[in-house]
Amino acid sequence: MGGDVMTIYLDNNATTALAAEVRDAMMPHLFGEFANPSSPHSAGMAARRAVSEAKAQIAALIGAKPADLVMTGSATEATHAAILGALRVIEETDHRRDHIVTTAVEHPATFALFDDLRQRGWRVTVLPVNRDGLPSLVDLAAAVTEATALVSMMWANNETGVLMPVEGASAIAHAHGALFHSDAVQAAGRVPVDCGIADYLTLSAHKMHGPKGVGALYVRKGAPFHALIQGHQERRRRGGTENVPGIVGFGAAASLASLWLDEADLIAFLRDRLEQGILARWPGAVVNGAGTARLPNTSNIRFADGRGHPLDAEELLMRLNRAGIAVSMGAACSSGGNEPSHVLTAMGLSGAQAAASLRFSLSRYTTAAEVDAVLSELPALHARLVAA
Ligand code: PLP
Repeated sequence: MGGDVMTIYLDNNATTALAAEVRDAMMPHLFGEFANPSSPHSAGMAARRAVSEAKAQIAALIGAKPADLVMTGSATEATHAAILGALRVIEETDHRRDHIVTTAVEHPATFALFDDLRQRGWRVTVLPVNRDGLPSLVDLAAAVTEATALVSMMWANNETGVLMPVEGASAIAHAHGALFHSDAVQAAGRVPVDCGIADYLTLSAHKMHGPKGVGALYVRKGAPFHALIQGHQERRRRGGTENVPGIVGFGAAASLASLWLDEADLIAFLRDRLEQGILARWPGAVVNGAGTARLPNTSNIRFADGRGHPLDAEELLMRLNRAGIAVSMGAACSSGGNEPSHVLTAMGLSGAQAAASLRFSLSRYTTAAEVDAVLSELPALHARLVAA
């Protein structure tokens, strides 16, 4: 997939290719059907209908009602809208609750917000994770009290694919009257996600073969919410003229994702073939997070040099890139520095071990031939990098 036919694209947790079906659904709304959904004329009403239909498609993916969704400009915005929107109401209605909880492995969309909230006076608990990247529900139960306003825990980790104990976490939060938010960006469309456990859920179109720049927030009916962006759109919950082509594309992508959920075993089969093939060809390679349930498409692998020491994975990434294979060092590096991954170091890896790790993330479009082509490159790369 993608513009360069030579590229074997294994970076689908960063973003995915737009599906042809999604492009086809969006096209009429990019050219021709351009009306504003708030306009009173027929063309405006048609745009409004298109947005409603798309929201029904997205809602169906997570078992929600269309009216429970607030469309946003990204998942990052959706997470900010959920957490800030909830805390704004709590601040005004329940002064006792001054505490919020998250985990050490969240996406920057969440942890940067928690850093900001800490600076603004909220007491913050960041739950540590074990060697497999899992937070302990015993730790969570000890942390959550009647002073806790909100718990935020991602559904699946973007770097390792590790599935988090969201159901248990939600039960603990709710037992103390706290709200529960989950960033389900990597999980939705890859494993079943049921909105029933959460007060707020964050979704993103571009991780499921939809367009970039469109997110969605599920808000449970009756959950506290104050709009981050004022305006009459989205039932006053998010101002700004709707991104009609983007929302329509998100709807089409969600419909495809619902169908493709049945094919998760096929993606897992290819991922396992890749993973086992790499481990067989690279002595000392280890899968990060292998001891627990993971997304079917993700493999985070730590590479070793000839003496079993951590390899410089950036060199390996660049050589794979030269061979037309796109993978990633976990989350995209922050510009300028090469900070070791906070996810991997939270799992107990040293900085050097984290820097020895690469993320391979597959999609519905990954083929067995592509997996085999990657595996066939490895012996030569091993010889070059380990002998060097
Ligand atoms: N949350 C997770 C787990 C992600 O992987 C990403 C994307 O990298 C985001 C949030 C942010 O999504 P968006 O690019 O739509 O803001």
